[in-house]
Amino acid sequence: MSTEAFREKVKDWLADNCPQAARGPGDPVTIGSKRPMQNSELLEWRHALGSKGWTVPTWPSEYGGGGLSLDEARVLAEELRAIRARAPMGGMGTSMLGPTLLEYGTEEQKLRHIPKIALGDVAWCQGYSEPGAGSDLAGLSTRAVDKGDVFEVNGQKIWTSGANFADWIFVLVRTDPDAAKHDGISFVLMDMHQPGITVKPIRLISGSSPFCETFFDNAVARKADLVGQLNRGWTVGKRLLQHERSGQGGVGAAAARAPRQRASAPANPLLDTARKYVGTDPKGAIADQSTRDTVIRFGMNQRSFSLTQKRAKEENTSGKTMGEATSIFKLYGATMARDSADMRVRMMGAQGFGWEGDSFSEAERGATRAWLHSRAITIYGGTNEIQLNIIAKRVLGLPD
Ligand SMILES: Cc1cc2nc3c(=O)[nH]c(=O)nc-3n(C[C@H](O)[C@H](O)[C@H](O)COP(=O)(O)OP(=O)(O)OC[C@H]3O[C@@H](n4cnc5c(N)ncnc54)[C@H](O)[C@@H]3O)c2cc1C
Repeated sequence: MSTEAFREKVKDWLADNCPQAARGPGDPVTIGSKRPMQNSELLEWRHALGSKGWTVPTWPSEYGGGGLSLDEARVLAEELRAIRARAPMGGMGTSMLGPTLLEYGTEEQKLRHIPKIALGDVAWCQGYSEPGAGSDLAGLSTRAVDKGDVFEVNGQKIWTSGANFADWIFVLVRTDPDAAKHDGISFVLMDMHQPGITVKPIRLISGSSPFCETFFDNAVARKADLVGQLNRGWTVGKRLLQHERSGQGGVGAAAARAPRQRASAPANPLLDTARKYVGTDPKGAIADQSTRDTVIRFGMNQRSFSLTQKRAKEENTSGKTMGEATSIFKLYGATMARDSADMRVRMMGAQGFGWEGDSFSEAERGATRAWLHSRAITIYGGTNEIQLNIIAKRVLGLPD
């Protein structure tokens, strides 16, 4: 089928299946059993899109994906955007676990888990970090002991984003405490609906609780849910991190589905802030020379990064997530996000430190929150320093 014929097919299907309630701003289309949607039309929309496999358009259709080519997936994304359809939020099932299972899962695991991810019926979370193992992830100590058909799991994870809303968790556990640190780790999938798993949300100073502590007390992981080989989970876990970082760096499979970037430069987010808070000279240029330099330098970096992302995506015709090089995109994207948030609040002066009250506009309060959040981007998925280590050792081949 030609691309244009496919586009017509998509348009017709969306006209028939996407309700007005799912177009434009409104309640999010959530996933999983713990955040049920009140609006039945939104649930029907999620199931309609999921049943077609169009929530994960390029995944194989035998596992509930859309079986689409990259070009078809791009057309679908364009048409969804054209009608301002609210598609289900991706979540860790689509961005991390699904692609990992497609590579490392058994046939039975793919058939059991992937269709539920495609339908949005199950929300996943990531059990990697521990109080004593963050950057040094291979130092993890959550223990899984062989008990016949199951592993019995004891230990604690921390910073588990969305654990309070998750139905399942993918976990790195230690299955051989006597082996060298990277060799005794396994990758297991665990049902969160069991008494052995307790979740305690971590309350931030802002009042929100985006992540949790997750405790395992004689919790159970079925042997059938061991992904990859026993004690070889480090390989699986590392590959999952590449999927995570490629999404964060804007070169993931989801990015391949997004509408093609226009040839024109992306808007420089600092320009309007500089004009408003620093002011302009009679010619309309930003009044202060040093601010002008900062804004222009950021704009050039942003443009170069966006072209590099575009080239990387175009060169990657397999549609598969790239390997260690994902760290370059994760590092640079996180650094730019942090730096631009910094520059914005600096230009805003005292208005850049608003938290509450009428002296600050909603946008100003939002800028302060974005500035604080920008620190997190350089930490989750592995800190900037860890990305630099990976780039030095695994991409550039520098000695330890
Ligand atoms: C918003 C957010 C969401 C998160 N969500 C999840 C989640 O869902 N699941 C999950 O498992 N984890 C999650 N994390 C945890 C995250 O992966 C860790 O915070 C991260 O890996 C860093 O580990 P740490 O906090 O223990 O810091 P540490 O490892 O203690 O690092 C402290 C500092 O030392 C530096 N450092 C450490 N080792 C080295 C080294 N070898 N070379 C140079 N510098 C080094 C680090 O860069 C950092 O600056 C999340 C974190 C955040 C902020």
